[in-house]
Amino acid sequence: MKKESVLTRVSHFNEFYVLHDKETMEKQADRCLDCGVAFCNYACPLGNINPDLNYLIAHQKWDKALDLLHRTNNFPEFTGRLCPALCEAACSLSIHGQAMTCKDIELSIVEYGFKNDLIKPIKPFVKSGKSVAIVGSGPAGLAAAQELVRLGHKVVVYEKSHELGGLLSLGIPDYKLDKSIIKRRIKQLSEEGVMFITNCHVGEDVKAKELLDKYDALCLCGGSSVPRQLDVKGQTFKGIHFAMDYLTQQNMINQDFEIKSDLINAKDKHVVIIGGGDTGADCLGVALRQGAKSVSQIEIMSKPPEERTTDMPWPYWPMTLKTNSAHEEGGKRMWSLLTKRFEGHNGHVSGLSCVEVAWHKSESGYKMVELENSEFVIEADLVLFAMGFLHPNQEGVIKDLDIKIDERGNIHGTKNQTNHKKIFAAGDMHRGQSLVCKAIADGRHAAKHIDEYLKTAEV
Ligand SMILES: Cc1cc2nc3c(=O)[nH]c(=O)nc-3n(C[C@H](O)[C@H](O)[C@H](O)COP(=O)(O)OP(=O)(O)OC[C@H]3O[C@@H](n4cnc5c(N)ncnc54)[C@H](O)[C@@H]3O)c2cc1C
Repeated sequence: MKKESVLTRVSHFNEFYVLHDKETMEKQADRCLDCGVAFCNYACPLGNINPDLNYLIAHQKWDKALDLLHRTNNFPEFTGRLCPALCEAACSLSIHGQAMTCKDIELSIVEYGFKNDLIKPIKPFVKSGKSVAIVGSGPAGLAAAQELVRLGHKVVVYEKSHELGGLLSLGIPDYKLDKSIIKRRIKQLSEEGVMFITNCHVGEDVKAKELLDKYDALCLCGGSSVPRQLDVKGQTFKGIHFAMDYLTQQNMINQDFEIKSDLINAKDKHVVIIGGGDTGADCLGVALRQGAKSVSQIEIMSKPPEERTTDMPWPYWPMTLKTNSAHEEGGKRMWSLLTKRFEGHNGHVSGLSCVEVAWHKSESGYKMVELENSEFVIEADLVLFAMGFLHPNQEGVIKDLDIKIDERGNIHGTKNQTNHKKIFAAGDMHRGQSLVCKAIADGRHAAKHIDEYLKTAEV
């Protein structure tokens, strides 16, 4: 899609993409090869039926395409904005040229639906008399809630934050996803009968066991919230923060919420982001909009190749260099850097002492080697840890309900069902930190398995 110029878009926090017109999308859809084996469909965690969607759009059947899209994806307006588009990497056209723009088509279809008031609440004909409590209102919890309420069950979503949407609301910057987009969809869920209770931390404000007694099933969708730490000297200096604390504050400011903790702001600061992934890129975009003096994003792994290599052939996901919209806006990216310690002045961070590393392939995997005499200091007044998440919080709900966790620290489940037959789990809390499309897909799977359980179990 077309974007606003860099100079314009860094002056605000609003979305900056311009939707294509219908004719452009119809021409684009007509490029689809309608492959016998559609790898795009196979690669999409939601199973979006892209060849059929493309056929319908190419034949100007937008209403039918909207219906088909919603059969596999509850929230195409989230994935159409946020998805890394695994489908496009697997598109047969990309073997020798440009892939189909499945993501743009998806977004155009759903925005056509909202614009023309075609997205209405879908209410069940029959009520089951069964009830389900969902803990967490991220994409997994919302998808599970929508599927279950449409199947006739009573659904109550408990959310500890004041805002619904999980990381969509309080993590992902507004310029990637405007928060009115989430509210628009929540309205549909409410009208379908989903009840939402915000500011309610399950495990603190209400006991998890109370929910277990009150409802016929429980679905845990609390996300992955324990961030990866960097345990080096100086890590307690002032000016060093987790990415999520930083990103959440800016989203709250944009929505005129009062910030009760110390303000983290990049204005006139030298910012260093540790972590070369998407969360790091989000910090970069926000820091540039706040008016940072300089921003560096550093990564311990080596720079990925720009093109596919023989060990990542089509249609596999290419582990190539990803350049996010924030990278077009400014900042410096550095790879193969290990932070040895933080430098400080009067208790405040003043820099990072880094060393260059090389990665050597061995039989047991990759081995990191520090390069001799390569140590140098990067100036920093603000350091942001964006190194991902380890696993969900294992205290609270998981501990209170005695839920089994897997070797990675996530909730162990078979068909989303935990060691307690009444309790299910979905999204990052179950699969580990991942993507919005996978969270929605897992929420849908959990709903299906909860429905099967409610139909067969004597509850
Ligand atoms: C900064 C950032 C940017 C990202 N950008 C992208 C992107 O561009 N594209 C993409 O595909 N993915 C992105 N992701 C990943 C994506 O956001 C997550 O994979 C997805 O949101 C997981 O959904 P979820 O429903 O499992 O959990 P979450 O979205 O984490 O939601 C969990 C919810 O549960 C609530 N909760 C937790 N415990 C309790 C409790 N005890 N009681 C009540 N409520 C509770 C939390 O407050 C939260 O609202 C990003 C992640 C981050 C951190």
